[in-house]
Amino acid sequence: MEQKTYIVRCGEVALKGMNKPYFERMLVDRIRRSLKKIGTGIEVKRDEGLIFVRTPLELEEEAVLKSITKVFGVASVSPAVEIDIEEGSAQQIMDRIGAAAVNYMKNLIETRGIKTFKVDAKRANKQFPIQSPEIGRIIGAKILVGCKVLSVDVHQPDCRLFVSVRRGKAYVFEQKVSGFGGLPLGTNGKGMVLLSGGIDSPVAAFLMAKRGMMIEAIHFHSYPYTSERAWEKVQDLASIVAGYCGRFTIHSINLLPIQEAIVANCPEDEITILVRRFMMRLAERVAKDTGCMMLITGENIGQVASQTAEALVVTDASVQMPVMRPLIAMDKVDIMDLAREIGTYETSILPYEDCCTVFLPKHPATKPKLERILESESHLDVEALMEAALAEKTSTVILPRD
Ligand code: ATP
Ligand code: MG
Repeated sequence: MEQKTYIVRCGEVALKGMNKPYFERMLVDRIRRSLKKIGTGIEVKRDEGLIFVRTPLELEEEAVLKSITKVFGVASVSPAVEIDIEEGSAQQIMDRIGAAAVNYMKNLIETRGIKTFKVDAKRANKQFPIQSPEIGRIIGAKILVGCKVLSVDVHQPDCRLFVSVRRGKAYVFEQKVSGFGGLPLGTNGKGMVLLSGGIDSPVAAFLMAKRGMMIEAIHFHSYPYTSERAWEKVQDLASIVAGYCGRFTIHSINLLPIQEAIVANCPEDEITILVRRFMMRLAERVAKDTGCMMLITGENIGQVASQTAEALVVTDASVQMPVMRPLIAMDKVDIMDLAREIGTYETSILPYEDCCTVFLPKHPATKPKLERILESESHLDVEALMEAALAEKTSTVILPRD
């Protein structure tokens, strides 16, 4: 059966020392799972630091590339022509590689009208008797003979052709499509992301998942002040995130009774920070029940009143679990760029109400003091409010969307 080959480079996984085989196996498994959704008869194999994907010819290149580059841990992918070099003299092998390279270039002349090229050769198999620069020269010369319209340009070629000679196989390829890098999912525990409908928290979830962390999510609403449509928007966002980190559960909690208790019993300027402390405590409780090791938020220092250094310290003091804030030092423009890149931005900016905006104080405290906040909380039955909120929790499984 004729097959198409893709060379997958592993990025940081390659630096893992003793644990490298484990990370590579996880990566192979993730790539297999991702490709399973688009077709059958696909083979994924490790070979000396690289991963080779072989698919039936008819499987569309674009779909294959999309599936592979979405997998965390993948640095880049190249569709390649594979040449069997198990048998024959060095010269016969060079003839075979040369013929494949000429065919490859003829195709590019036809489809892209290329006029210049450069060959970059690499001999990964040091037993092969011809050295890399010489391989490059030989293949270059064969291309010049086989494709009369082409000339060499080492500075700005229309096509940079890579030739890789490995054990038993050689590869000819051109483009490298970048992946996200990172580490394979499942290599770094599970975290509970506080997922709002905003721009930041989906990006925060994506970044932690990119480092190999499995994701579960919690969302707070203030129904009926927040609408059913706002909840649908959160599920839409979650399904985009699930496109990268696989299906996950999102827990949904109505915060309204807690917000009302705070409004009725605490100073107005402390509402936001008090609500945030409840969110954290509830998230921690659900996280413990679901095997999550840490909390993840989209907080970003200085962005809003509840995210000043002082407010973050007071927020943190409400829980024992570590709180990961992968966006903490990023600029908003960069967060927005990343949101666009991963495809969440357009959904995030849809104008639906969020529970945080339901009881917004006119002048929120930007430098809250923990002692004063604790004093205000002493007017509330924190445990009873939490129990009541948790009793009404609903959980929804979110499936990935492309
Ligand atoms: P985002 O864009 O993620 O909503 P934001 O800049 O609007 O963030 P805040 O509203 O202060 O900032 O929220 C800070 C973080 O708290 C969010 O990134 C998210 O992790 C969490 N959070 C806020 N609102 C909710 C909510 N309704 N449900 C779950 N988590 C929330
Ligand atoms: Mg928000």
